Amino acid sequence: MHKTVFQPNEKGFYGDFGGAFIPEMLIPNIEELKACYLSILASESFQKKYQQLLADYAGRPSPLFKAERLSSKYGANIWLKREDLNHTGSHKINNTIGQILVAREMGRERIIAETGAGQHGVATATVCALMGLKCVVYMGEVDMERQAPNVARMRMLGAEVLPATSGNGTLKDATNEALRDWIANPTDTYYLIGSVVGPHPYPDMVARLQAVISSEIKIQLKEKAGTNLPDYVLACVGGGSNAAGSFYHFINDESVQLIGAEAAGLGVDSGETAASMACGDEGVIHGSKTYLMQSDDGQIIEPYSISAGLDYPGVGPLHASLKQSGRASYLPVTDREALDAAMEVTRLEGIIPALESAHALALLPRLKFNASDNVVVTISGRGDKDMDTYMKQFKL
Ligand SMILES: *Cc1c(COP(=O)(O)O)cnc(C)c1O
Repeated sequence: MHKTVFQPNEKGFYGDFGGAFIPEMLIPNIEELKACYLSILASESFQKKYQQLLADYAGRPSPLFKAERLSSKYGANIWLKREDLNHTGSHKINNTIGQILVAREMGRERIIAETGAGQHGVATATVCALMGLKCVVYMGEVDMERQAPNVARMRMLGAEVLPATSGNGTLKDATNEALRDWIANPTDTYYLIGSVVGPHPYPDMVARLQAVISSEIKIQLKEKAGTNLPDYVLACVGGGSNAAGSFYHFINDESVQLIGAEAAGLGVDSGETAASMACGDEGVIHGSKTYLMQSDDGQIIEPYSISAGLDYPGVGPLHASLKQSGRASYLPVTDREALDAAMEVTRLEGIIPALESAHALALLPRLKFNASDNVVVTISGRGDKDMDTYMKQFKL
């Protein structure tokens, strides 16, 4: 096994992956952020506001729930980390609370973001309303149609939602528009990225802001099970932020098996997939070297998953490094497996999960546990936003 490299070096590389592959004109913005993010995150004033908002605004700590009926079914102690109970319905608020405080500290008054399904856009518009900052969200025009309720939420929260019309009108086009905006508005604007992706220092900053998930798991498992080290941590991986946060404080504890679920869509060989680690190879996407799905001539392949939050052709460089080193493993989960897992946890535990989170739950039947194992599954979000899909799929 290679040495695990989970702290990026000065240039933002986790081993072979990461870095900052950006146009010349973005270098000053990125350099400024790079120079200040660690000291801001470490400062007492930041920590005080961040912890206070996580507690009183987001509703943390999120519970660690012993799922008794799932535990009986799978013959292990299954614990659900309930990020679905956070304000705005997912883990994304942990990151947007943190970054809005960084932006404020840097004196920025205008926030831009990209969004695919709209979940990150809503979490960003939420904290901008809270702080009274101007918010512009870029969204592919096709996604704006598919995710109309989230567009309405963002607008109600006071954000301007601008359509990205290039390409397929989806997430990667929205990202390109956001980068263009940032180049044009370098001094007053902060780019709030929604996952552990993008140029350094974003992957590291977002991982640190989501690491609250694993720091809580350690404390809660100690209280409830007498050990702070689970045997397994399972999480779904789109860009990889909820998984990075769930894994973060366990990466150096080799006894903890870290397993990510990526979206296989209709299957890894179907051509309709978002499994960038099973199907992709090394390349550069959104300023970072990682695994991505690309054609032989280097064109990014349009991803597909039933779950909009996992529908991304790349993955954060931390995960690429964890995969390459063997420290974590990543299994592709199909739409069908995720749907079955969503129904199962709903009927056994009374929890309707987000379709993204259902991919992590779908790992349970794939793994062989010992009866004493503690298995933590991160429920990254709630299923309200997916009811249309569930209604169609289950004829409800
Ligand atoms: C956005 C989203 C994801 C995927 O993003 P990551 O950065 O991979 O965590 C997963 N689950 C939910 C509920 C989401 O909203």
